[in-house]
Amino acid sequence: MTTIEKAMAMLPARGYLDMEIPGGTDLVAEINHMRKEKNAIILAHYYQTGDIQDIADFLGDSLQLARAAENTDADMIVFCGVHFMAETAKILNPTKKVVLPDLLAGCSLADSCSGEGLRELKKEHPDAIVVSYINCDSGVKAESDIIVTSSNAEHIINSLPQEQKIIFAPDRNLGRYINQVTGRNMILWDGACIVHEAFSLERIAQQMLDHPKAKLIAHPEAQKPVLQVAHYVGSTANLLNYVVNDSAEEFIVATEEGILHEMRKRAPGKKLIPALTIDDTCNCSECHFMKLNTMQKLYLCMKYEQPEILMDEEIRLKALRPINKMLELSKAIK
Ligand code: SF4
Repeated sequence: MTTIEKAMAMLPARGYLDMEIPGGTDLVAEINHMRKEKNAIILAHYYQTGDIQDIADFLGDSLQLARAAENTDADMIVFCGVHFMAETAKILNPTKKVVLPDLLAGCSLADSCSGEGLRELKKEHPDAIVVSYINCDSGVKAESDIIVTSSNAEHIINSLPQEQKIIFAPDRNLGRYINQVTGRNMILWDGACIVHEAFSLERIAQQMLDHPKAKLIAHPEAQKPVLQVAHYVGSTANLLNYVVNDSAEEFIVATEEGILHEMRKRAPGKKLIPALTIDDTCNCSECHFMKLNTMQKLYLCMKYEQPEILMDEEIRLKALRPINKMLELSKAIK
């Protein structure tokens, strides 16, 4: 069952979206008021819309958000991201209420792999440990030994014995990239992110010709040919730091477009060019799952404290173990 199917099964829990917002409501003021009144914290991923990023208490990529969720003393975590991220916050905070503005905010990558499927693959390789990218659901996390993010995957894989056999799930592009930079031969699950897979090498090459001074920076979820020509490959947070700190003045950015909002704020003088995708008729470098969250839904979600992320306790405990392992192994990383 995909994240979307699971969410659809819970559709009554979206009834809050039918509630009317009175005309003239100042959403920002109301959200700020509810945040204080309910002792809530708003966590937002860099791929959210600019208005949501601006109102968040904490903005970050998957690793930064997992750490923020681990350390908060708020009573309610309002997670502006996608379902698996809100689940991760719940796994780390079982006693806190975790809500997500739209329950249908899923992820193509998380949906490519299930706990049952991974269990079958493990049977074929009984001597392998499972390292899973954090972009997976709680069932997959529960079947994993270590969780990684794109910020810490290389560091964590390098910390494992060279002879250790590893299954890497669910992103084949990130797995292939980690194999290349660590010299490993991990067994890769065949999943992908629809946004990062859509970047077109041919169109990006033309952009590089049109902007000869620009550096191409790419997220490792992009396909190998794009990564091979990139000047820099890094996680969302590392791409942001690179733009801020590098001496170049122009960048072609091959990741979800939402990050450009924070890049523009932190590096106001620099020219940022979204990398082009295979389809020139759509905004393919926008994640439509992420963009399901809106300020209106954020307001309603905080007001009615729905939809809440709920989880089976046995799965939660199994999924917690590999996340804690990641947080322990990645302490040395900023
Ligand atoms: S950008 Fe890709 S990996 Fe991230 S939530 Fe969207 S579909 Fe999933």
